[in-house]
Amino acid sequence: MKGCFITATDTEVGKTLASCALSLLVPDALVIKPVQTGCIREGERLAAPDVDMVVRCGGRAEALHCYAPPCSPHLALELAGEALTVAGLAAEVRARQAGEPASPVLVEGAGGICVPINEHESMLDLMQALDLPVLLVVGNRLGCLNQARLSLEALRLRGLAVCGMVLNRACPEDVCDPGCGEAAVSADEARILSDNVQSLTRLGERLGIPLLADVPWLGRLQAADGSVNAAVKHRLCAAFAPVAERLAQVWREQDREQDVVAEDLAFDRDHLWHPYTSATKPLPVYAVQRTHANRICLHDGRELIDGMSSWWCAVHGYGRESLVQALQTQAGRMSHVMFGGLTHRPAVALARELLPLVPGGLNRLFYADSGSVAVEVALKMAVQYQISLGRTKRRHFLTPMGGYHGDTQGAMSVCDPVNGMHTLFSGLLTRHYFTERPACRFDAPYDPACLEDARQKIASLRDEIAAVILEPVVQGAGGMWFYHPQYVQDMLTLCHEHDILLIADEIATGFGRTGKLFACEWAGITPDIMCLGKALTGGMMTGAVTLATDRVAEGIGNATPECGGGLLMHGPTFMANPLFCATALASVRELVASPWQERVQRIEALLNEGLAPCRNMPGVADVRVLGAIGVVETVQPVPIASLQAFFVEQGVWIRPFGRLVYLMPPLVSPDADIATLCAVVCRAVREGLIES
Ligand code: PMP
Repeated sequence: MKGCFITATDTEVGKTLASCALSLLVPDALVIKPVQTGCIREGERLAAPDVDMVVRCGGRAEALHCYAPPCSPHLALELAGEALTVAGLAAEVRARQAGEPASPVLVEGAGGICVPINEHESMLDLMQALDLPVLLVVGNRLGCLNQARLSLEALRLRGLAVCGMVLNRACPEDVCDPGCGEAAVSADEARILSDNVQSLTRLGERLGIPLLADVPWLGRLQAADGSVNAAVKHRLCAAFAPVAERLAQVWREQDREQDVVAEDLAFDRDHLWHPYTSATKPLPVYAVQRTHANRICLHDGRELIDGMSSWWCAVHGYGRESLVQALQTQAGRMSHVMFGGLTHRPAVALARELLPLVPGGLNRLFYADSGSVAVEVALKMAVQYQISLGRTKRRHFLTPMGGYHGDTQGAMSVCDPVNGMHTLFSGLLTRHYFTERPACRFDAPYDPACLEDARQKIASLRDEIAAVILEPVVQGAGGMWFYHPQYVQDMLTLCHEHDILLIADEIATGFGRTGKLFACEWAGITPDIMCLGKALTGGMMTGAVTLATDRVAEGIGNATPECGGGLLMHGPTFMANPLFCATALASVRELVASPWQERVQRIEALLNEGLAPCRNMPGVADVRVLGAIGVVETVQPVPIASLQAFFVEQGVWIRPFGRLVYLMPPLVSPDADIATLCAVVCRAVREGLIES
């Protein structure tokens, strides 16, 4: 959208003057005042003073919502018994602009930048939702440097682009304005006002946000009878000319934006490796500009409903305030410090809150920097535990087929050997043992025979096996397969009969996705070792943990020098990174405080209903849903690039792979969006797009 958001350091400092001047200087400009308070009743009509002023000056302006009380929008709305949301206001502004796409919109805020619109949202949220360049009007008076700095800081923290500042003197220099205090109206004041100009110029140069105009007191624009003082208007336009020039430059840059994106995409194609693709013949990628809630916004203006939670992570959607704030606050205090010999509150606080949530008995926590590394640590722990007991030959693992545990070497070696990388990397990867994929479906009666193969292998290989590693109940990237929790429970019993450890990889399943906080809860078990990652930080940061029982930790810790000496030889540079810990803590708190269980149940019902039509369609092998995961398994591998393009055209982000089209939306997704995701999947299947 072409335009600008006019905001200010405070109320009554000159936003409307800026709107008047720019509405005259920018050809075809339309000033939109989303919420106007302080309106004057004229018969049936509530006259919006700011809008009327622009119109009297000869510009075009509209107010979307008018209220009489001269107060903050949130209060005016409350008094009127009405409610407005930022999403609704942004949609109204967009719709208005869509009517005349060539006209730049100058959206004038209300009051200062943090003025509330409702209990939870402010003008800053509206600026973010509209994503327009921001013009900051600073009232030139005592105290304005502080206000300008605070305003710029708040805008920066929201990732907003400020195109410039205007310093405006809103009253004569020999009149004491509210910011001056008793000591003002003295010779000093002129000095203060001119220093404001110099200080803001220097600040602007440092930040790359130019001070575009220093507007002195020009006299009243509007006389008591409503007429406009032509001389003042003329001088006002002259003072704002550099602002109009700057806006024209910003819009020219915006017009070039699509070329810049095309250049980015070309560079990306030539130099960047994307996951699981060829460097020389890559699949197409889509350039993302920003994300919010459950939406992914592309540079070309399209907004996609997210169906993937960025590979299981973004349970709270994107840009969740508490998570963003936790990250920013921690960055302001301490972004990183080595964990060797040092500790810190975020590391301790996260563990303190996490340990009571995980299956009882997992009391020891190791911080890793990604899911794969957490798995490496788990594998090392298991082998070292066995060594500590003198069982030095137990260096192998048993794992069900169809599993996926990460892309590092140890993790790869326990991934499904057929779909995984065993053949390609034979000789590099340690050969481990595989048992049949758990055949018993989650929703079918349990058949103990499904564990028979594992039982036999464990009986014959027990002296070589340190641990069984599995993804409890849901095998993720290896096939999105949901199997019976009794299998997990019986596997634990079987392992313990032979002093073999059970490692539960809950990197994908953890934090509510399956309907339980952790999938192990379906089986009512505590594994010996457990890995968590992905949704741990709500998708804000990389980071993972490996948890172990006291038995495992003490086994390793109390080993004699010949049996490892008690040290766990692992220590990533970014272990317990404070930014990760603080964000994870905020995410865990947010999840626990939310009605996540009801949300998952609702999503489950919607997925069941929405994907059901696929069941009897040609090309579909199976449809299954568990918690907030919906899967359509196809007979043939799907054509990823063309199917992906179809999904984007339909306004959804779904990334299929192999023979799987699946959904795992953020838990905060609105019902209608889940329904749309399902409908688009059904349409793709119905229209035969899943066949290559
Ligand atoms: N284990 C499981 C079950 C996973 O799904 C993944 C990631 N898809 C990993 C491990 C590896 O995690 P990361 O990508 O963070 O290394």
